[in-house]
Amino acid sequence: MARIKINIKDGTIKRSDKVLGIDLGTTNSLVAFVDSSTGNAICLGEEGDKIVPSVIYVTPENELIVGQAAKSHLIEEADNTVYSVKRLLGRSYTDIAGHSSSFGYHIMPDDSKAMVNINIRGKIYNPIELSAQILKSLKVKAELALGEPISKAVITVPAYFNDSQRQATRDAGKLAGLDVLRIVNEPTAASLAYGIGLDKSQTTTIAVYDLGGGTFDITILSIQNGVFEVLSTNGDTYTGGDDFDRAIITYWCEQHQLNMQQLEADKSVYQEIRLKAEEAKKHLSTNDTFESTIAVFNNVYTLSIDRSSFEKSIQPIVEKTLKCCRMALKDAGLTHEDIQDVVMVGGSTRTPYVIESVKRLFRKERVNNSLNPDEVVALGAAIEADILAGNRKDILLLDVTPLSLGIETLGGMMDTIIPRNSKVPTNAGRQYTTSKDGQLSLRISVYQGEREMVADNRKLGEFILDGIPAMPAGLPKIDIRFMLNADGILSIEAVELRSGIKQTIEIQPQYGLTDKEVETMLLAAMSNAEADMHKRQLAETITEAEQVLYQCRKLLFSNNDLLSEEEKSSTGMAIEELEELCKGDNREAINQSMERLNSVTRPFAERLMDQAIGKALTGKKLDAL
Ligand code: ADP
Ligand code: MG
Repeated sequence: MARIKINIKDGTIKRSDKVLGIDLGTTNSLVAFVDSSTGNAICLGEEGDKIVPSVIYVTPENELIVGQAAKSHLIEEADNTVYSVKRLLGRSYTDIAGHSSSFGYHIMPDDSKAMVNINIRGKIYNPIELSAQILKSLKVKAELALGEPISKAVITVPAYFNDSQRQATRDAGKLAGLDVLRIVNEPTAASLAYGIGLDKSQTTTIAVYDLGGGTFDITILSIQNGVFEVLSTNGDTYTGGDDFDRAIITYWCEQHQLNMQQLEADKSVYQEIRLKAEEAKKHLSTNDTFESTIAVFNNVYTLSIDRSSFEKSIQPIVEKTLKCCRMALKDAGLTHEDIQDVVMVGGSTRTPYVIESVKRLFRKERVNNSLNPDEVVALGAAIEADILAGNRKDILLLDVTPLSLGIETLGGMMDTIIPRNSKVPTNAGRQYTTSKDGQLSLRISVYQGEREMVADNRKLGEFILDGIPAMPAGLPKIDIRFMLNADGILSIEAVELRSGIKQTIEIQPQYGLTDKEVETMLLAAMSNAEADMHKRQLAETITEAEQVLYQCRKLLFSNNDLLSEEEKSSTGMAIEELEELCKGDNREAINQSMERLNSVTRPFAERLMDQAIGKALTGKKLDAL
C-alpha cells in the first residue's frame, strides 16, 4: 500500500520516494536517513531521543507503548514489559530453552516448532507483532522529522540470522506498514557508515566486530571497485553486553552470598539489580571503580566493583567473541595480516577491555571506533537505502549466505544445494528422482546447516510436489532449483522434467508464523476484506479440482478397456460428486472429494504403470510420501 502526497498549492500528487534505514536492535533501535541536500546520513529524532530502547510495555488497557516510556516499567512491572524481543524473532521455545529464565516476562512453554508466544496480562502476543510495534514507532519518528508519510525502508539484521529470522523481520516490517526494500546485514551497513569502499579505487579487506546488547557478529569484508563482498561471517546470537551485566550480578551475588536463583525468582528484584549492573558496566568504561546501594529482601546492600574485577569476570565472554573471530578468519582463508582495518560496532565496544582484546587479536595499533557505535548500523542502513532509492548508482553490494542450504535425501541425509559462504543473490539446482514405483508425489524438505544428517540441521520448511505421472521408480526427472535473493530469502522451484509439472514456493520457515497467522495479522493490520481472501482460496481450490477432473476423465477415456466395470462406475461417481461440489462454495468439501477421487483412481494408475517397462535412472532418491 503506497502512500501518496498531495501538493495543496498546485494539486499535484507526488509519491514519497524516501527510503529509511532502520537498525532494529535487540537492545536499542534507530532510524536514519540520507539528507539529499548534504548527502550525509543522520539519525532521526529529537536530540537525546534518537535511540529507541527496544522495549514494549503493555498497559492495563492492553495498549502497547514502545521505547523509553516502556523501559521505565521494567522494574515495577517486569511481567508486562517485553525487552530483547529480537532474540525471540523467528525462534521456537526449544531454540531458547535454557535462556527463558533470563526474560522477565512470561514466555509460553511449547513443544512445537512454532515461534514462541508471550503472555502478557492474559493476552497472547508473538514476537513479530511486538517487533512491528517498535518499527511503527520508528516510522512515526521519521515521519515527524521529515514531515511526510514514508512507507519504504531497509532493515538490518545480524549477519548470522537464518532464513526464518530474516523472514520474521520482513513480516514485522510489513505489519508496521513498511515496504521493506532490503534486509541488510548489520556489519555490511556499518562498513558503509565508515565510508569504506565508497572511493571506487580503494581495495581493502576489513573485519567488522559488532558487540551489541544481545548479539555478537564478526564479518570479514572484501571491498574492491566499489563492491562490498562478505568473505565470511560468524557470531553468536546469545553473546552481548547483557552477559556483561549478568557477570556483574554473579560477582555481586558471590560478594554478598546472595542466592542467584532466589534473585531470579523475584522478577522485579532481578530487573532492579540488572539495571544497576548495566549502570556499573557503563560507568567502568570511563572510570576505575563503581559503588552504589540497593535495597532488596529487606536489606540494604552496597554494590561495588572495580575495573580489574569486572574485566576478569567478562574475560570468558570476550574470549568467546575472539574465538568467533578466529573462525571467521579461517573460513575466509585469511590471517590477521590480511585485515587492513577493524570496524567497531555496538554499544558494548565502548568497554575498553573489549577494544584492547580486539586490537590484540588482530594485532592492530588502532581500530575504527570514531563513529558513535550505537548509530553506525542505522547510518549505514540509510546509505544502503539511498543506494536503493537510486541516488548512488555506482555502488553494488554482495553478501554471502552464512549456512549451507539443501534438502533431505533418502536415509535422512543432507544434500547441500547452495554451500555456505556462497555469494548472494545466487541460484543452484540439482536433479533427483523417485524411490518408489508409481510415486505420484514427493515431499521436499528444506534444511539449513553444515551437518551430514538433516536431523542435526535446522528445518526451514517443506512442500509437496504432486501430480507426478505414475512411472517406475527412478524414471521421473525432478529438477530442484534454489534461488536465494539479495535478502538471503530462499525460493524453491521443483519441476518434473518429463511432464513439466512445476511447483514454486517461497520458503515458509517452520519457526515463523503459520500462513494462517500471517494472514490473520495482515488482515487486521491492513483492513483487507476477509471475504476476498476466502473467495481467492475457493477459486484456487476449484481450479485445482478442475485439473484433477480433466486428468481423470482423460484416464477413463484412454484406458476404457483396461478397467473393470466396478472401477469405471466408482470413478464415474467420484467424478460426478466433485463436479457437483465445484458449483458450490464449500472449499473443505471440494478438498475432501478431490481426495476421494484420487484414492479411487490411484490403484489402477499404479496398475497401468506396472505394465510399463521402466528404465531406472541412477541418481539420488527422495523418500516416498
Ligand atoms: P543492540 O545492537 O543489541 O541493540 P547496542 O549496540 O545498542 O545493542 O548496544 C547495547 C549494549 O551496549 C547494551 O548492553 C549496553 O549496556 C551497552 N552499552 C551502552 N553504553 C555502554 C558503555 N558506555 N559501556 C559499555 N557498554 C555500553
Ligand atoms: Mg546492534
